[in-house]
Parts: sequence; C-alpha cells; structure tokens
Amino acid sequence: MKQTSVRPNIRHLSLSDLQEYVAGAAQPAYRARQLYGWLWQKHARSFEQMSDLPKTFREKLANDFSFPVLNVELLQQSRDGTVKCLFRLSDGKAVEGVLIPSGDRLTACVSSQAGCSLGCKFCATGYLGLQRNLMFEEIFDQVAFLNEIAMQQAGRRLTNIVFMGMGEPLLNYKQVLLAIDKITSPDGLAFSPRRITLSTAGISKMIYRLADDQVKFNLALSLHAATDEKRSQIMPINQSNRIPDLLEALEYFYKLTRNEISIEYILLKDFNDSLDDAKALVKLYRKLPFKVVNLIEYNPVSLSPFSRTESHVADQFIAYLQRQHVNVRLRRSRGADIDAACGQLANVVHTEAAQ
Ligand code: SF4
Repeated sequence: MKQTSVRPNIRHLSLSDLQEYVAGAAQPAYRARQLYGWLWQKHARSFEQMSDLPKTFREKLANDFSFPVLNVELLQQSRDGTVKCLFRLSDGKAVEGVLIPSGDRLTACVSSQAGCSLGCKFCATGYLGLQRNLMFEEIFDQVAFLNEIAMQQAGRRLTNIVFMGMGEPLLNYKQVLLAIDKITSPDGLAFSPRRITLSTAGISKMIYRLADDQVKFNLALSLHAATDEKRSQIMPINQSNRIPDLLEALEYFYKLTRNEISIEYILLKDFNDSLDDAKALVKLYRKLPFKVVNLIEYNPVSLSPFSRTESHVADQFIAYLQRQHVNVRLRRSRGADIDAACGQLANVVHTEAAQ
C-alpha cells in the first residue's frame, strides 16, 4: 500500500524549532544555524547539498522532513534582455516570475498567487481565476532563483523586487509578509525593504493593516482609471473598494509608515488616455503625497478587449501631466515578445523559449 508522506516541511520550522530539533538529534547547537543558513541564505535545493553537515545527519533530516523547492521548468529570454521563468510548484500548478534589466536596475517581478480571483479586464492572469495562494517559501524561491539568474547573467544581485506578478498580494497577506521577512532578514537574503514594492489592485482594509503592521516596503496602487465609474468597468474590486476609500487608506499608510507610494496606470487605447482622463488623474494625484505616477504601456492579451494607446497620444498624456507638475514616468513595455510584460503572465509557453 502506498504511504502518504506526512513529514513536515523543513522550511516551516523557525530557528528555535530547528534548535530544539538539533538538540533532540544529539547534534552540537551550532548545527541549527548552519541548517538555517542553508535554507534561507544559501538557498539549498536538497539536504545533500548541505555539505558541512555530517552525512548521517543529512540522512536523518531527509527522513524526518520534506523539502519541496520550486522547479524552474522553463526560462524564456526576451530580445530586450527580460527573462521570464515558469516555476512548477510541488502540486503541479505553475506560476511565473520575471527578471527585468533596465539601466542600473535588475528587478525581479514575482507572483503571490497561482492565478488571481480579481478578474481585471486587461490582465491575462485575471482570466485564469484563482488556483491557490502561494506559501511563503514558494514566493521566497522565486526571488532566490531570479537573484541567481541575475548573478549568472549580469554578475550582480537584484536591485529591486516588485510584487506585480500573478495574484493580488494583499489577498495572501500572511504568506507575502512571511516571504518578505525571509527576503529582508540578515539571516535570509538581506535585501533592503526600501527596494521592495508591493503592488495592489486596492483593498482598503488590508492597506490599513499594512500601516498598522508598520511595514518597511513601498506600496503601489494599480489605479488604471481615475474615476470610480471607469475603474469599476475594468477592475471589479473597485465596486467594493471605491477610490475615495482607497485614498483614505493610502493617506493612513503614508502617515504611519512614510513609505513611498506610487500609482500604476496602464494606458488603454480610447478608454483611459484622453485629456479628461489625464485631468482626473491630476486631481487625484494632488490629494495625496504620492511620489510618482508610473504610466505603463499596455500589451494586449488574447481575451482582453483593450489595445495599446498610440504613442503620440501617450506623449500628449504625459506632457499634460508634466505641465501639471506630476512626477510621472513612462514604463516602456519589457519582454512583450515572451508575454512577460505587465498583465501578460498566464503560463503561456512560447516555442522560441530558451533552455
Ligand atoms: Fe489579479 Fe493583478 Fe491581474 Fe488584477 S491585474 S487580475 S489583481 S493579477
């Protein structure tokens, strides 16, 4: 009869749990820190890799614990240097993460959920529906793998991490914060939280919670339309989280944390790219201490009715914002040829994939 494994996941043990286990296994106390270092600093994929632990102890670990790690199933490299990774989870589901080189920056864009329940009309992931929340170690693994790819390709570590991949991070709050803890901890990957941005479609009560939890990372609001009437047409979450409520929540977040807040705004042709739309955006911008508005070039996805704003219209939109002293940046589309651009992550495999 096939036995189902009930071994606990080694990465769900805290350092003090490991210390207790190590004592019970009659190993010297320092083994717990060695083990913890392999798990969270050196990003080991197996117990065998933990070369400074005695073989018998590694065998005991393998006997007592499971150690699931994301599997990099496919790497696709875009003509512009963007790398998209398809990660296979231990239950067979898949998520995507993207490495985006741009100027001095090496940014990892990671997923927090497999699929997404929010159904934004311009987003490929939204059309998948929610499959499940990711565990913190699955989010951590994406960052660790993308960091390794950055080291291999550019000879240096990631400079920035954005939670803008698949899923709504604030609907997987606990696991996302646990992952960020491991990513930023000196005992983990030791990234500065100031270099991490969590992007949300806008869930007011969770923004208040971030503020109350005194998080140290930055927040981006995926706004994409500056009036409730328009926003509700493309983002169903807006029906229960109206723009004035979101603005209040963001004001509270800023008051308590002083962390940077940005607005993400995908330009959608003939939907949110007119002068009136720009005016509505300026009005909203003035209400809050936002540092920046990121305008994003759209890459059409098959089920979405939207297309990309023409470049001369985008230029006029930006010029208007600049005349109104809005701190605005245009984020050029990256990795569109491999569906790695914003809103395109949907586990679509391309034939020209590398590796
Ligand atoms: Fe979900 Fe973000 Fe896509 Fe909206 S844009 S459906 S929140 S992944």
